[in-house]
Amino acid sequence: MAKFSRQFSLVLLILSLIFLISTKVSSVKSDTVKPAAAVVRENVVVKEKDVVLAFVGDIMLDRGVKYSVYKNFGVDYSQLFANVKEKLLAYDLLFGNLEGPVSDKGMDEGGIYSFRMEPQSLSALKVAGFDVVSVANNHIFNWGQAAFTDTLERLTASGIKYAGGGFDGPGAYSGAQINVSGVKITVLGFSEFNAGGVESSSTYPGIAVISDKNIINSVKKARLDSDIVIASFHFGEEYQKLPNVYQERYAKLAVDSGADLIIGHHPHVVETLEKYRDSYIIYSLGNFIFDQYFSPDTMSGGLLEVKVNTRTKKIENVALKKVSLNKWFQLDSILP
Ligand SMILES: [Zn+2]
Repeated sequence: MAKFSRQFSLVLLILSLIFLISTKVSSVKSDTVKPAAAVVRENVVVKEKDVVLAFVGDIMLDRGVKYSVYKNFGVDYSQLFANVKEKLLAYDLLFGNLEGPVSDKGMDEGGIYSFRMEPQSLSALKVAGFDVVSVANNHIFNWGQAAFTDTLERLTASGIKYAGGGFDGPGAYSGAQINVSGVKITVLGFSEFNAGGVESSSTYPGIAVISDKNIINSVKKARLDSDIVIASFHFGEEYQKLPNVYQERYAKLAVDSGADLIIGHHPHVVETLEKYRDSYIIYSLGNFIFDQYFSPDTMSGGLLEVKVNTRTKKIENVALKKVSLNKWFQLDSILP
């Protein structure tokens, strides 16, 4: 009897062990099933998620801005972006117009309105989330070719792409291509201003300038290999709140050639936003960071948010936000 009872309890023990193990396994199973289902759901969400691109206007960190950074921020340029950094970093792509060289090389060729930003200011732009800048503008050659090419090299070294300039013409006119969550985006840059022979040639470093031929060729070429083509234009008249006929003509020519979005800057104030065909044109985004303290319109600027559907790979909509600077030329806020 005692033997039987021992055998019985042994069987019981084995049975309960099997039961325990099986419940453990099933609980492990149910644990793993739950997150797996969640991952599947998340994957679906990710696929259909919009990405948001952001575009700002003129960035100039020399002169009064530099003075303020030395006086108020212990030579830490990243403090200029500190109040809005989190918002900027949340964008999937951030673009701005770099209104001057970032270099310690070259010779001042621009006189009183000549800008050259300190090399250390570039890491602040990187930290603030900038992915791509346009160098096609009227200040990028202020310190000559040495500072210009040094700027391109420094941008590349810091992981910021550039459009509207290059070591030769093909480079300057092919723009920057960025893949954002599977959406191929090409940013082209053009400048209205060509004084001093700053246009790139087949072998000469320089910028991309506005002309019918340059716009049509570049946009059509970019179109072949991109989901979204963006053309950035440095054009227009300073402090005018409406675009002139020149701006309208070239912005619309770029759209007619296949561009999805036109980003304008140079007037230092915000101009109109327009939907033309299926594309969007912002004629000027005004200033992002500049030392033009003399009016509220130059101490604020536009930030264009552009929603892109990653499934259709098309722009869904755009929203123009307002950015403003405080008296230290520090970005204060991004407002609806
Ligand atoms: Zn300008």
